[in-house]
Amino acid sequence: MGRRSTRDGCMTVLVVGSVALDSVETPFGKADGVVGGSATFFASAACHFGPVQLVGVVGNDYPVDQLAPLAAQGVDLSGLEHAEGESFRWRGRYRHDLNSAETLETRLGVFSHFRPKIPAAFRRTPFVFLANIDPRLQLEVLGQVESPRLVACDTMNFWIESRRNDVIALLGRVDLITLNDGEARQLTERTNLVHAARWILERGPRYVIVKKGEHGAFMFTKESIFFAPAYPLEQVFDPTGAGDSFAGGFMGHLARTGDLSDANLRRAVVVGSAMGSFAVERFSNERLLSLTAADIDQRITEFRDLVSFERGGAGR
Ligand code: AMP
Repeated sequence: MGRRSTRDGCMTVLVVGSVALDSVETPFGKADGVVGGSATFFASAACHFGPVQLVGVVGNDYPVDQLAPLAAQGVDLSGLEHAEGESFRWRGRYRHDLNSAETLETRLGVFSHFRPKIPAAFRRTPFVFLANIDPRLQLEVLGQVESPRLVACDTMNFWIESRRNDVIALLGRVDLITLNDGEARQLTERTNLVHAARWILERGPRYVIVKKGEHGAFMFTKESIFFAPAYPLEQVFDPTGAGDSFAGGFMGHLARTGDLSDANLRRAVVVGSAMGSFAVERFSNERLLSLTAADIDQRITEFRDLVSFERGGAGR
């Protein structure tokens, strides 16, 4: 059986992660029980680049009709389980430093008994993203997929604190990890980010992406470091989901192009940064769902203008 790809060569991305109800407070307002979750934000960004398959679980309180726009954008929700009980709920607050979320409550609900089952039709998907969930579940997924081209994962402080050894075991099984600077320091117990990235690279991944919120993102390999700024938005409304949307743009671009060269991974970091910048303009996945291809192209062009310069003149 061949790999899942569409006729124009664009390949599919599989995401496994949380599908949540979020309650968020920012200096600009509040949202209560809105659509969220790592897999949801990822899919909302990645679907602009090609087909996405989502695996996760929701409880019987989930407003599944609110996922319909995702299905309409090409997200295959047939791997979304519906279980008895409460959906995963996350409650968080951002104060004036919008770079760091304060978790007020995490209620795992149906996620506490969830065992991901990757449908047969999803097992040979070439691009796999293990979005932020229990690292034991992320490891279980890896036992069910068949020789993917690229496996990437994300994690967060909640899991680094409660399941550090599993997160470290996961490092040995993935090609790439995305995490924010605080999480990189926490996982590696290194304060210097270059040292932290090296610590991670020594444990398995070929690529480490360290996100620094409004200060951009670094991609480290053993040989090189690449940096992309964050888009200087006039107003960051709600930072929730920026990291997952970054990952959705990044993986979506790789799947669309099928090109895993270093130059294209660098482009993918910029596409990811563009998608992260859209996510924070509104609550929930609202802005991501309203995007057009022209909006995305325009922001990527603005990114290019932001960093382009000619070397020469003084000192040369
Ligand atoms: P981020 O992209 O890092 O801002 O992730 C935001 C999303 O992560 C929110 O929509 C939450 O529902 C979800 N989330 C928060 N805590 C957890 C957790 N412990 N496990 C899985 N997902 C989580």
